[in-house]
Amino acid sequence: MSTATNFRPVSRRQFLGQLAVGTAGLALTPRLHSQGAVAPRKLGVALVGLGAYSRGQLGPALKETQHCRLAGVVTGDRAKGLQWATEHGFPETSVYGYDTMARLADNRGIDIVYVVTPNGLHAEHAIAAAKAGKHVICEKPMANTVAECDAMLAACRAAQVRLSIGYRLHFDPYHREMMRLAREKDFGAFTKMKGDRGFVMRTKAWRAEKKLAGGGPMMDLGVYIIQGACMASPAAGLGSIENAPVAVTAAEIPKTRPDIFADVEEGTRWTMEFPGGAACEAFTSYAHQADTFRVEGDKGWLEFKQRAFTYRGAVVETSRGKLDFGPFVNQQALQMDDFARCVQEGRESRVPGEMGRRDMVIVEAIYESVRTGKRTLVKI
Ligand code: NAD
Repeated sequence: MSTATNFRPVSRRQFLGQLAVGTAGLALTPRLHSQGAVAPRKLGVALVGLGAYSRGQLGPALKETQHCRLAGVVTGDRAKGLQWATEHGFPETSVYGYDTMARLADNRGIDIVYVVTPNGLHAEHAIAAAKAGKHVICEKPMANTVAECDAMLAACRAAQVRLSIGYRLHFDPYHREMMRLAREKDFGAFTKMKGDRGFVMRTKAWRAEKKLAGGGPMMDLGVYIIQGACMASPAAGLGSIENAPVAVTAAEIPKTRPDIFADVEEGTRWTMEFPGGAACEAFTSYAHQADTFRVEGDKGWLEFKQRAFTYRGAVVETSRGKLDFGPFVNQQALQMDDFARCVQEGRESRVPGEMGRRDMVIVEAIYESVRTGKRTLVKI
């Protein structure tokens, strides 16, 4: 049989079906219904931070979710919080300030706290949520440092709550197809990878402040290329947190806007070496526009030609034709619904806190390589 006939991308329907397949809990649901039992209630989510991502993506996605709903917010701007309460139909008593997060413990309508503040505040807010007994989703990058990731993981373990990272692309059919190809090796093992992600930052924002961002584009955008390369290199299994480079070599690009980038790098080129000889060449900066990712094996290739890591609109070609999964899915709604099911069914998220920590170990190795000018081992 030729390899061409082996290449059968999953259909959109199969993809959504696979995402919905849970474990015993799901299988039980129809039986419970037929006995007149009540369906599991939608879990309440509280968003922490009502900035661009909450406003533009997560709020709208929570109107599309099936297993969770917006039940509260944590914000520094109470008037804004009250507007969200009206729009999403939750009580004004579920609008909190960052300094009153401990009171979430008394709110039984909130099960999950989703941290969407600047990176440097993730640890503080995730730990406050865990101490209030809430399950946590934390936006990427997980935190500014591996030490903060460890503190977050420890707080969630101590409180016996789950911790997941906002890695929405694990719920996107194109990225899952790349992961499937990596595992099943239709194109051979992906040994050559290349990623490029950037946007032009014209005015100084918190993303260029070390305290709030942890670093420059590596923290905000480089993480996507790290994620893509780990997805495409499934030495240890599909989506496993053990898929990681063994070494990195990195260099910072010269600064063209030192006024903006006084505190952090403007861009970085780096190489990630994976077990078995695979390598990923990567570039990220706040000085150019790019959003592409390519993987190549000895029998074929797959390339995200446009919008590789964006919410929707990916243009993906392979050596055997264009990939088309039909209308784009709402990655954020699928991601939050999956976490709600994980909480309901007592199972681990496919994007757990440990994965966010892995990526921060890689990021720290990259910064170390920039600092020393040497190839640096990655020790997860
Ligand atoms: P943003 O600047 O638009 O919003 C940040 C929010 O945090 C604002 O509401 C701001 O008021 C609040 N905040 C609280 N304390 C603050 C402080 N001390 N300084 C500045 N702001 C403070 O940022 P954003 O784009 O919404 O990003 C928030 C987080 O979400 C970041 O960690 C980012 O990496 C992540 N994000 C993820 C995706 C994704 O696709 N997964 C996309 C965008 C952003």
